Amino acid sequence: MPLIARRMSRLGTENAFKLGDDIQRCVDRGMDIIRFNLGAPDFRSAPHLNRIAGAALDAGRSGYCDPAGILPFRQAITDHVRNTRGVEVAPDRVVVTPGAKPPIGYTLQTYVDEGDEVIYPSPGFPIYESWVRFVGAVPVPLPLSEDRDFAFTADDLAALITDRTKLIILCSPSNPTGGVLSRDDLAGIAELVRERCRPDVRVYSDEIYEQILFDGLEHESIVSHPGMPERTVLASGHSKGFAMTGWRLGWAVLPTGEEAAIFKRININIMSCVPPFLQEAGAAAYEDPASAVEVRRMVGAFERRRNRIVPALNRIPGVRCRTPKGAFYVFPDVSGLCERLGVYDACERIHKVAPSRATPAGMLQMFLLYRYGVATMDRASFGRIGAEGQDFLRLSIANGMEDIRRGVERIEEAAEDASGFAEFVQNEDGRALFG
Ligand code: PLP
Repeated sequence: MPLIARRMSRLGTENAFKLGDDIQRCVDRGMDIIRFNLGAPDFRSAPHLNRIAGAALDAGRSGYCDPAGILPFRQAITDHVRNTRGVEVAPDRVVVTPGAKPPIGYTLQTYVDEGDEVIYPSPGFPIYESWVRFVGAVPVPLPLSEDRDFAFTADDLAALITDRTKLIILCSPSNPTGGVLSRDDLAGIAELVRERCRPDVRVYSDEIYEQILFDGLEHESIVSHPGMPERTVLASGHSKGFAMTGWRLGWAVLPTGEEAAIFKRININIMSCVPPFLQEAGAAAYEDPASAVEVRRMVGAFERRRNRIVPALNRIPGVRCRTPKGAFYVFPDVSGLCERLGVYDACERIHKVAPSRATPAGMLQMFLLYRYGVATMDRASFGRIGAEGQDFLRLSIANGMEDIRRGVERIEEAAEDASGFAEFVQNEDGRALFG
């Protein structure tokens, strides 16, 4: 009998957390690292919200609470959903979770049996693929392409739907691409789901970046379309838009109270409840007009940084970067850079000698980190299945302008350093990283 249950070999990870070890190694060597890898806003949670949580603690609201979430917070969420999506939801369909990540696993566990097919965006948040594999479902990645700004239409989705489809995952604005689905795209997708999918097929709509949109765009949600509130698990939270990643405040709106009761039961089995004093501040984030001011300030800063970094990256030979419409990432194609630096040849040589997980974008990522002090995320960190032959890096713009300038300058230098790359692959670091 093995010590570790077999299913654990199917549980994936989020490399954004794993990369921390490599960054620490570089820091220990005295390197200064520009952290383009970060998936968290470089802003603090708003002072008025911090005060509410502190006051609730001082007032003694520090015990267990309703595992579904305190009623005032669930009511604030239903108001927010009505105001932003035009959909009326009763509080018994809302479950508060520690961040917007848990509802992904809850959804896979609640609806998906072994052998069912799950469609999810690729590149996409890696936790989708992790959970799909963990529950023994069949992963069906929906490829997002750069030439369409990483959006997709009903036709792209239609080609993947079969009788075994049980769940369709959407994420807009998207991590890692910054792609956004338009109202028309969503209308087409909703029509397709209504026509082609049984009523028990669920859509999971990950809207955690709902506040972070550029160029005056407004957030669009699949739940605003006819027939979709009955089929959609809508998930969002406070991590990104309110710069509250460490608070662990998220929520899901379920199609029915019965389904919400299952999410509540999973909460009970795992962590009982989200701390009530945090939820009080969570409600104020939606209700106090001061929050909207903070959100606008942050989104304005992200937009200015986007406007700076995209042209700067496009000036680097071998880099091609689209302009994201939302979230706080840019996702450039770096295949030209891999070519210039000899990454493809090096990767091929490694694979000839022994099986390896090295990918060209992954090797470039490590070269930039270990030799130039620039931490990025590679394409394979956002779903491995179907990632072959796609060489992209994700850079987070949750960094000040000065760091953005310095980071891009370093990548520019690295782009001229083919001999440095050849040396890196062969020396101790390269051998330890790539085998
Ligand atoms: N969904 C997407 C698309 C994300 O990018 C993230 C975080 O990076 C999450 C969910 C998880 O958010 P939270 O930190 O609220 O759990």
